[in-house]
Amino acid sequence: MIEKTFMMVKPDGVKRALTGTIIQRVEQRGLKIIALKMILADKELVGKHYVDDAEWCDSVGKKTMDSWAKRGVKSDETPIEIGKRIRQWLMDYITSGPVVAMVIEGHDTIKQIRKLVGDTSPHSAAPGTIRGDFSIDSYAVGDQLNRPIKNLVHASGNKKEAQNEISLWFNKDEVQDYKRIDEDLIYRT
Ligand code: UDP
Ligand code: MG
Repeated sequence: MIEKTFMMVKPDGVKRALTGTIIQRVEQRGLKIIALKMILADKELVGKHYVDDAEWCDSVGKKTMDSWAKRGVKSDETPIEIGKRIRQWLMDYITSGPVVAMVIEGHDTIKQIRKLVGDTSPHSAAPGTIRGDFSIDSYAVGDQLNRPIKNLVHASGNKKEAQNEISLWFNKDEVQDYKRIDEDLIYRT
């Protein structure tokens, strides 16, 4: 199924001059960039991107708790409390420099881009993925420095996130409709 997803090179990816490399990985897979811009996001925008809801905080907090469990770290905090703290850290991280936001279209794009991006923690992300090839950051280092994991890119996790994020970051007239030269070869006989 042809679908759209949202992807963003985070400030660490931009500052490390990895934007071109990241875009190349998307394009060479046969996926089409249909919107692209560099912006310095403010906290209001980032606050809407990483929504302040219990479900989101719970799922993010559980990732830290799983990493604590593996390292034998004990805490009385709930996943929601941890998730809320990470959300605050993310506000500072994502507003710390320009990001490159994009909309990508293609077959099964939401899942395929997540595969290209790799695990949340670059330390455990597979080699060959963006996070696994260009970073070694981890839950442990993030915890130690009181900051989120710097993992170079964001990619929507599911259809609902993709729709919300595309309309949050782009106006309708910023999303283009064009045909890639290899589109017939990829999708037709
Ligand atoms: N994050 C973190 N620690 C965690 C979970 C998340 O630092 O325990 C940060 C990390 O930068 C991640 C972002 O919060 O990319 C959003 O978390 P999510 O679970 O949505 O991970 P993603 O979808 O980016 O892989
Ligand atoms: Mg996510």
